Amino acid sequence: VTGEEANVAVETGVRERRVAVFVQLKRPGDVQEVRAQLPVVAEEGRIMESVSGSPVTVLCGETGSGKTTQLPQFLYEHGYTLPNGPCGGGMIGVTEPRRVAAVSMSHRVAYEMGLSQRQVSYQIRYEGNATEDTVIKFMTDGVLLREIEQDLLLQRYSVVVVDEAHERSVFTDILLGLLSRIIPLREKSGRPLKLVVMSATLRVEDFTKNPLLFPSPPPTLSVESRQFPVTVHFSRRTPTSYVREAYLKTCKIHKRLPPGHLLVFLTGQREVLRLCRALRGTFPCTQSTGEEREEGGRRERRRRKSRGDVDLDKYPLLPEVGRTECEDEEGEEEDKETDWKAEVSAHDRQLPMLVLPLYSLLPPERQAEVFRPVPEGVRLCVVATNVAETSITIPHVKYVVDTGKVKRRYYDKVTGISTFRVEWVSQASANQRAGRAGRTQPGHCYRLYSSAVFQNLLSQFSQPEICSRPVDDLVLQMKALGIERVAHFPFPTPPSPEALQAAEMVLEGLGALSSDGRLTDLGRTMSRFPVSPRYGKMLAVGHQYNCLPYVISLVAALSVKELVVQTDHSSRKGEEEGRGEGGVKSSGLAALRRLCAGKEEFRLLGDLGLLLTVVGAWSHSRGRTEFSAKTGLQPRAMREVSRLRQQLTNSVNMICPDLNLVIDPSLAPPTEAQARHLCQIVLACLGDRVARKISTDNMSAEDKRKQRFSYQCVSCEGPVYLAPNSSLTSCPPDYLVYQDLLDSGHRIYLRGVMAVQEAWLPQLVPQFCKFSEPLELPPPTFDPNTSTIRCHMSCTYGPHQWPLGSHEM
Ligand code: ADP
Ligand code: MG
Repeated sequence: VTGEEANVAVETGVRERRVAVFVQLKRPGDVQEVRAQLPVVAEEGRIMESVSGSPVTVLCGETGSGKTTQLPQFLYEHGYTLPNGPCGGGMIGVTEPRRVAAVSMSHRVAYEMGLSQRQVSYQIRYEGNATEDTVIKFMTDGVLLREIEQDLLLQRYSVVVVDEAHERSVFTDILLGLLSRIIPLREKSGRPLKLVVMSATLRVEDFTKNPLLFPSPPPTLSVESRQFPVTVHFSRRTPTSYVREAYLKTCKIHKRLPPGHLLVFLTGQREVLRLCRALRGTFPCTQSTGEEREEGGRRERRRRKSRGDVDLDKYPLLPEVGRTECEDEEGEEEDKETDWKAEVSAHDRQLPMLVLPLYSLLPPERQAEVFRPVPEGVRLCVVATNVAETSITIPHVKYVVDTGKVKRRYYDKVTGISTFRVEWVSQASANQRAGRAGRTQPGHCYRLYSSAVFQNLLSQFSQPEICSRPVDDLVLQMKALGIERVAHFPFPTPPSPEALQAAEMVLEGLGALSSDGRLTDLGRTMSRFPVSPRYGKMLAVGHQYNCLPYVISLVAALSVKELVVQTDHSSRKGEEEGRGEGGVKSSGLAALRRLCAGKEEFRLLGDLGLLLTVVGAWSHSRGRTEFSAKTGLQPRAMREVSRLRQQLTNSVNMICPDLNLVIDPSLAPPTEAQARHLCQIVLACLGDRVARKISTDNMSAEDKRKQRFSYQCVSCEGPVYLAPNSSLTSCPPDYLVYQDLLDSGHRIYLRGVMAVQEAWLPQLVPQFCKFSEPLELPPPTFDPNTSTIRCHMSCTYGPHQWPLGSHEM
């Protein structure tokens, strides 16, 4: 025990630590004090004994007990990164399902340890700050999965900590399956790898009692935390408008109940910002920065103008920003918010309250605001999405307002249609949320739904993600790892056989797998890009007629969600970490479309051309704040696009160094021939996502008008429609490809569309064509010798060739 710590231990009565400490840290004084209170710190001895005695340890402990921040420090202090340490040296890797957590925890742990970010670093898909000095690396689970592809035995690591395993993200599940196989191999190699699985709940049987995964059950430690009693209050009735109800409940608590911070759970960024706005408009001592300023400035100005509201003059004024297009819906919301306020008496509005938002797209420095001390006599109210459920613990919360709702993305297994639904959380989540109120003192949780709803409508637990999403990207990655029979993989919970079959079909259709399920050379190239298989193929076949820079930009833009501030309900996207496919959406597009005007070549590419224009214009624009206010583009998302462009360019250069590809930031419009080739490249990757215009020839004039935008696609029976904001509505083509379908509840919309020519279909995607007469033509093949995709007839992708095989990683 180091001197300093021993003192702290004596003062606080923490059990004496008996284990040898190899490395001594100089921790800041404030950290010493906080650490001594953490339940995990009291159990350090027991935890480290288990880690040293067993290859796998499962650690359960309530959120906030100190797992994420402390365990990496224990491992470091016990010499796990030292060459003469227990595992012969290597990094400590910590995986998180959420990007927010990876970034914020790396900052916090570096600070607690008195080390720099060169030593305690993070890596997420777009960015990272790891160096050769890195000893502890926080990363998203997907990042480690990709590292396994290149370093099968994870030789660079001595310990892998899989955090938040209870969340059951697909990548976490797959990682655990792989790690269960890597550990025995490392054991044999003489440099063992330790695995620590951490969970905020005790529901870990899927890992511990799963002989396929770990033949002998790993030791499971559970850390008792000093959880104070939380009184749960149900509402008598369940309201329809839960944001409004959350507002009223928050006001009531603030008015009537003793000091103590407040935490409100909502489902997404928009709701969070809306409630923040309403609360800030009600109580003094508000504060606003960054993104909300951009979002809120316009509304604030309008509100002030229309009502001459004196109250608002007390608050720091929000700067003026340019107007964005399409404000229709928001006017309505605003009026409602005004109504809300009328229900809170003027007297109550005198109490100061600091209102802070917390959601995953909030920049890290703004996320950190919730940890800052609050002035005496001010109540902190954090309005959060479910990132606050287990990933981030806000100190001193006494009151929780739980709407009971969460936004989930749904995929129809058959059609692949995705929808975002606001749903009831599980009972387990609701209890987690309630627990947030009792971290430091007895607390109260106000559920804005009845106990009957809790009993009857909330499922006991949430389903693991792997059971509810397409798995084509996973199957491709697993095949690339040499796992031939994916169905035999030791999944903690296996995906359904249909989902696996669907994934194999998609991959076969893309040419990534041969008909007997083996990875093809094309598939291998596809798997090297950190994007979904379709986009991987776009990149793999994109190098012709100098199209690759466009393909890279397109893939980057399609892989980042929330490019544009959302204003229409039909295209609202999920709030949480997404690796999914984005698309052109939102009605801020009118301004963007003007950007495109006159650029005929981009126009040939439909919505995708619009995306390319956006990417180019963004890199080009000088006053970005103004530009983003005008166009509704989210600066953070656009920065991600830029980073992904760079990263994909790097990947391409790594796979094929001869290309020496450099990014042209401004992205000049493609030539007409290039635009046509780009269309064909996209078609080759989206052969199963072609839609044909429904003929209106024999319809009445009225029906003709109604059905002007209706299409027929392969995956669903009824008609699907061009989205109202699509760039193809001015002249709907006979055939088009789409990125995805979105069910608005009222209609199914095609998103991210681009026109294609009928004549291309049998040539580029014959596997999806039905021929009226049998054609004696072979399916397209990928020829590794000439590195070309050969379609039947004379259609060969060329003239540049992709030098596959020469640079195997
Ligand atoms: P767990 O992983 O078990 O949920 P954590 O290790 O995340 O717990 O949190 C331990 C404690 O550290 C909590 O009380 C939390 O409030 C605090 N904490 C985490 N991040 C920060 C930060 N950036 N600033 C201040 N306190 C923090
Ligand atoms: Mg944690």
